[in-house]
Amino acid sequence: MLLFRIMKKTIVIVGGGAAGLFAAYVLTKSDHKVILIEQNEKLGKKIYITGKGRCNLTNDSPAETLLANTVSNPKFLYSAVSRLDAKETMRHFSDMGLRMKTERGNRVFPVSDHASDVTAALERSIRKAGGEIWLNQKVIRLIVKEFADENDKKVTGRVCGLLVSDGKQEKVLDCDCLLLATGGVSYPTTGATGDGYRFAGELGLQVVDPRPALVPLTVREDFCKDLSGLSLKNVRLSVTARVKNKEKKICEDFGEMLFTHFGLSGPLVLSASSRIGKYLPGEVVCHIDLKPALTLEQLDARLLRDLTDRSNKIVTNALFDLLPKSLLPYVLSRSGIDKDKSANGVTKEERLELARTLKDFTFHVTGTRGFHEAIITQGGLSVKEVDPSTMRVKKYRGLYAAGELLDLDAMTGGFNLQIAWSTGYAAACGILTDLEEEG
Ligand SMILES: Cc1cc2nc3c(=O)[nH]c(=O)nc-3n(C[C@H](O)[C@H](O)[C@H](O)COP(=O)(O)OP(=O)(O)OC[C@H]3O[C@@H](n4cnc5c(N)ncnc54)[C@H](O)[C@@H]3O)c2cc1C
Repeated sequence: MLLFRIMKKTIVIVGGGAAGLFAAYVLTKSDHKVILIEQNEKLGKKIYITGKGRCNLTNDSPAETLLANTVSNPKFLYSAVSRLDAKETMRHFSDMGLRMKTERGNRVFPVSDHASDVTAALERSIRKAGGEIWLNQKVIRLIVKEFADENDKKVTGRVCGLLVSDGKQEKVLDCDCLLLATGGVSYPTTGATGDGYRFAGELGLQVVDPRPALVPLTVREDFCKDLSGLSLKNVRLSVTARVKNKEKKICEDFGEMLFTHFGLSGPLVLSASSRIGKYLPGEVVCHIDLKPALTLEQLDARLLRDLTDRSNKIVTNALFDLLPKSLLPYVLSRSGIDKDKSANGVTKEERLELARTLKDFTFHVTGTRGFHEAIITQGGLSVKEVDPSTMRVKKYRGLYAAGELLDLDAMTGGFNLQIAWSTGYAAACGILTDLEEEG
């Protein structure tokens, strides 16, 4: 019987973030030569700041939950996430020696509460398995061989190498397969400088315009700066946009938000930002229900009681326990009520207007903060260019993409890192299968 041995090939991964590291971890289990190239002086600079330094590495929930929490292109993720869901991801990390714990909302963290332990677990496994890690090396450009595939006219070339620079010298590195895991453009100081978009553009691949997501919002109402630092718990936020001259509700949720010197932030607002980017610039309005537990009628009854029981006080003092002290004057002013007016002088109409304002305190969104404050980049390499089960770029042989570089983004809760692990894993499996088929 003849035994065929697959010839050892060189696989290069560009980007030592979550997606690149996970792919390297899988690929170094094979016999192929694996080189991971990272422009920073260390791996996982972004992982280091995730989950406020604790790294919410996944969400221990079924694949359907991840897909439901994915904002852009959830269908594309179906195959990758079915192959590597949260449970499987945790099993891999456990094999790497990482101990994990699950907190509120199924959020998974390392037991140590140190994000650096996640990177360390991956790095240790890669090095132990003989993978090469090149730090302080920036990939400048990809090298492509023109390619005429008789059978597949859609394939236009083969990636066969890359130009790498250490800041002083440039050198060519040949490879058989190349995985782009260069991330997006959010928090650029971590190395997310958008090089992957440039490489894709140079190869004629479609890149969906990147925009900041999971990001604070700027608003027209400049009194926000006076409330800066005030956090509101248990409020309901709904966001509307004017579409074709009709007001459309974009999203609604209940939770916590924060005033900042430029507008609105906090968990509710960050989540909303991912849903409204495409309606900006435009007429986008945040509606805050400051008393979501009460109906308008119940709220009016409470106001009537407070104003009657404390009728000889000024209205600000009569309603002292209605809202945080700093917020009350703005709500009164919006309702057209003088804050120094006597409680017994408030008319029924004014009281009803106050109740309506409390149920619908509005802010007009002027935009989002920039990429330097965005947890994730929306947009990126179009998923139409990529095979969803192997992460292979359809128009090129030997080229794969994974992670935030792709036009994929999700809500907070560990879902974005899960996208990086799942697509990194799918790319690694895709590379190994393709190499096996090519012999
Ligand atoms: C503040 C913050 C908190 C977050 N918290 C969480 C969280 O708790 N849970 C969660 O699920 N998600 C979180 N995220 C999102 C998550 O970090 C990202 O989705 C994820 O890290 C993306 O991984 P990636 O590998 O695709 O990209 P990145 O982690 O950005 O890695 C890309 C790497 O490629 C390198 N690179 C780029 N260009 C080149 C080049 N030309 N040559 C060589 N190297 C290059 C970069 O230096 C970088 O190291 C957070 C994000 C931020 C900003």
